[in-house]
Amino acid sequence: DIEEMEQMINEILDTARRHHMHSKLKRRPVNLVDLLHEVVSAYKEQQTAIELIDLPSCVEIHVDFEQIKIVLKNIINNAIKYSQPDSAPIQISAMLEESYAVVRITDFGIGIPEEDLTHIFEPFYRVDKSRTKDTGGYGLGLSLCKTIMEAHGGKIVVHSRLQEGTTVFLYFPSATTSAV
Ligand code: ATP
Ligand code: MG
Repeated sequence: DIEEMEQMINEILDTARRHHMHSKLKRRPVNLVDLLHEVVSAYKEQQTAIELIDLPSCVEIHVDFEQIKIVLKNIINNAIKYSQPDSAPIQISAMLEESYAVVRITDFGIGIPEEDLTHIFEPFYRVDKSRTKDTGGYGLGLSLCKTIMEAHGGKIVVHSRLQEGTTVFLYFPSATTSAV
């Protein structure tokens, strides 16, 4: 049926984008911790504060700096957009988990209904338009983030509870760490 067809087309487009991006990534060694400080410093004026917690001093990953900035900004923008004025601050932390460097972005905003969680990475998918009419957007952010993370050999995972908040995990492969 149409839905299956749509899904198939999306998968084909996804694979094509991934192959295309993989060959175009400008990878270099990046200290993930410095990158987080840099990105977060641009959000000082926000109503919903952002806290960096539990950061090691150095986590080196091999990534396309500009592309990963796009991912972080999209996730942080969502965390802000889907928080409320009185929500607790957004928390960002980084850790090592087996062969991955993991960034965790937690907000205490409106959350995502369980039945929508499997769809949020689809292009143009937005949860219940009525609750997002003020926030704008096309529903493309997360699908772009997924494409970029997978092009890096990484992955993106979202946990969420309605009315409680959302946590996004970004997994970057083969990291090294050092305490200074
Ligand atoms: P765009 O990113 O293109 O500006 P968008 O933010 O609506 O638009 P996505 O970032 O792809 O699109 O997110 C898809 C949907 O998932 C959103 O419309 C929203 O309903 C839900 N969502 C994403 N992040 C969060 C979050 N942190 N809290 C609650 N809902 C979220
Ligand atoms: Mg978005």
